[in-house]
Amino acid sequence: MPSEFELIRRYFEQTPRDVRPGDRRRRRVSLGIGDDAALLRPSAGMELAVSTDLLLEGVHFRAGADPRKLGHKALAVNLSDMAAMGAAPRWATLALALPVVNEAWLGEFAKGFFALAARFGVELIGGDTTRAAAPGAARGSIVICITILGEVPTGLALFRAGARPGDDIWVSGELGGAALALAQPDIAAAARRLDEPEPRVELGERLRGLASAAIDVSDGFAQDLGHILERSGAGAIIEYELLPRSIDVRKIQDEKLQARLVLCGGDDYELVFTAPQASRGEVEVLASDLKLSLSRVGSIQSGAPRLQVFDTQGRPMPVGRGFDHFAP
Ligand code: ADP
Ligand code: MG
Repeated sequence: MPSEFELIRRYFEQTPRDVRPGDRRRRRVSLGIGDDAALLRPSAGMELAVSTDLLLEGVHFRAGADPRKLGHKALAVNLSDMAAMGAAPRWATLALALPVVNEAWLGEFAKGFFALAARFGVELIGGDTTRAAAPGAARGSIVICITILGEVPTGLALFRAGARPGDDIWVSGELGGAALALAQPDIAAAARRLDEPEPRVELGERLRGLASAAIDVSDGFAQDLGHILERSGAGAIIEYELLPRSIDVRKIQDEKLQARLVLCGGDDYELVFTAPQASRGEVEVLASDLKLSLSRVGSIQSGAPRLQVFDTQGRPMPVGRGFDHFAP
């Protein structure tokens, strides 16, 4: 069986050790995988954005999940956090706890991870690899922990706290697809939304100086918009019909179920952001530039951080809770 070091070299060490100075790959990393720590070269005039996400087998993904898709998703959820900050993702570390050494699994996981990393110019600069349980103990679970580092020009990061009364509320893409996949795994488009989310990295970067606040939808639209409201000390009015959803979600006959998917479904990794009304034209131009739908779904209100959602007849709708890891 290959040693831990051999596995790391085989599956995770992408940058050759002998890159010459001046080589393109050398620009942002002075020293990558293979020593006691990596050395990074952040650009002048940039702040570093850092975020960590933990994915646990049985909690965030089911046992036996496709490893290539898992490699994609583990990185995608981190890229999404960079997007929500308006940061450009640059570097990542990867910590893995594995119940068994399964080289086919590692190879596929690495494929999914690196395919997405390459698209956004992210370099894997280190990590840790360990067995998930002591020898002789019951089988442990797979644990995947990625830390991502990105850069954002000083003073231009997007915060949850910046929404102001009168601002429009916008949502990228579509809501509810990932949650639909949990209910109906046979719908291919929904399954893709759940297993291979597309982080809105370009959108996040383009929202610098344009959005007043932003967050990514990981735990459900209502809950995540709620974080903007709490942090900004403001309320919101949403027109339910304006919330974007896929044809598959719109087809659901059970109206309560459809509303629950759209308002409370997690794992969509779209961006919710606010922007002054005066910026509507600019946001619309951005949508057409990125070929990504950006829907204006409501507005920020002064007062308590309360979210009100109205149906087509102008009646208030009940808003359930989003995903809570510590809920019983
Ligand atoms: P240490 O003993 O200092 O923890 P390790 O032997 O665990 O170092 O790791 C050796 C090198 O391999 C380090 O540069 C570490 O960052 C890297 N590494 C270990 N596991 C991974 C992984 N899963 N992905 C990427 N790099 C890794
Ligand atoms: Mg180690």
